[in-house]
Amino acid sequence: MDRQQEFVLRTLEERDIRFVRLWFTDVLGFLKSVAVAPAELEGAFSEGIGFDGSAIEGFARVYESDMVAKPDPSTFQVLPWETPEGGHYSARMFCDIAMPDGSPSWADPRHVLRRQLSKAGEAGFTCYVHPEIEFFLLANLPEDGREPEPADNGGYFDQASHATATHFRRHAIEALEAMGISVEFSHHEGAPGQQEIDLRYADALTMADNVMTFRYVVKEVALTQGVRATFMPKPFTGQPGSGMHTHVSLFEGDQNAFYSPEDPYELSETGKAFVAGLLHHAREISAVTNQWVNSYKRLIRGGEAPTTVSWGRANRSALVRVPMYSPGKASSRRVEIRTLDSACNPYLAYSVILAAGLKGVEKGYELPPAAEDNIWTLSDSERKAAGYAELPQNLGEALTEMEQSELLPDALGEHVYDFFLRNKRVEWDNYRSAVTPYELRTLLPVL
Ligand code: GLU
Ligand code: MG
Ligand code: MG
Repeated sequence: MDRQQEFVLRTLEERDIRFVRLWFTDVLGFLKSVAVAPAELEGAFSEGIGFDGSAIEGFARVYESDMVAKPDPSTFQVLPWETPEGGHYSARMFCDIAMPDGSPSWADPRHVLRRQLSKAGEAGFTCYVHPEIEFFLLANLPEDGREPEPADNGGYFDQASHATATHFRRHAIEALEAMGISVEFSHHEGAPGQQEIDLRYADALTMADNVMTFRYVVKEVALTQGVRATFMPKPFTGQPGSGMHTHVSLFEGDQNAFYSPEDPYELSETGKAFVAGLLHHAREISAVTNQWVNSYKRLIRGGEAPTTVSWGRANRSALVRVPMYSPGKASSRRVEIRTLDSACNPYLAYSVILAAGLKGVEKGYELPPAAEDNIWTLSDSERKAAGYAELPQNLGEALTEMEQSELLPDALGEHVYDFFLRNKRVEWDNYRSAVTPYELRTLLPVL
């Protein structure tokens, strides 16, 4: 047993923890959990815990369903609230998923990201990310398809909108910090009920774990405040949606590989080629960064979400922004990718943005000129004349791009790539064959 495993066992004993939840993520990005008694953990560390992979979305076919969850002791955290049965804390660890022969499972999103990070490592890079996570607090979750009611009436940066949001953010941040997740900023976002919490940067694998923890903690804390939290990309027709803008930098040793003091954007050749890769592959990775039918209702003009494949400095309509908050500071040179929404699978989304950016670096893609115009104000023909490609307008179009991609089968592995496409085709077909309230409202009275 190694030191980290010993630390986990000692902490369980010292804090009298009765349940350890082993967490992992399915291909669609849902958090899964199996609780084990501390006495089982020693065995779990050496052999893993067996489970039926065919019952997990995207994991396995029924006839080869035995899988093993192996807890990663470096992710051990005590959950910062007491279990209702009385006074005992529980803890959690993320797991890597293996096949019975011990080889890593190709279906495990954490493994997909590990593989991508080791490719980055072979090219000499460590990848750091920090997300700005937007979400809504709702007074309720209507089950009959009606529009929900936001939990407050606040707007961008409002302090006192409604007591709920202020207290909520304090409780949520305390819980996150107690689990080792540092929060950098938090504020009310533009729409009623909409919140944003920005996490302090970490390596990409830790951050993907953190995002999964974040969603869980935020939902739990919301319940204790009598409200519901949702990461749905666009819950309100007339309000902006919830993005998960993601700041990325690559380091070579302790040098930021994106920084160059000579460039007006302080972007090195590596940084420029990385952005060029993101733009070049933006349409084909869209189904992963924006994976739900609802995601594409956020990516419309206005609302500060990107619609065209472009980059800029201050330009919030661009897909990639190069923020200049601290000019001259090499360590903080980074690029902000604004497509991702708060309901993506963070492991897969980080994998595909890295794959796209690194392809740009590997092939030395040329960065097109920056778009400093507000692209939303241009007409369709002006945008076309300026040479901007559009992002896919719906999930169906994004899937067609994904089907034609050479990058994605490699980045995701064939298993996840095939499962994802099949699953999402069904989602798109179900959606496009459903008659919506919009059609009934606008067409039934007149046709
Ligand atoms: N809510 C916007 C989006 O969907 C972003 C607003 C902002 O710039 O923070 O991307
Ligand atoms: Mg925001
Ligand atoms: Mg942002």
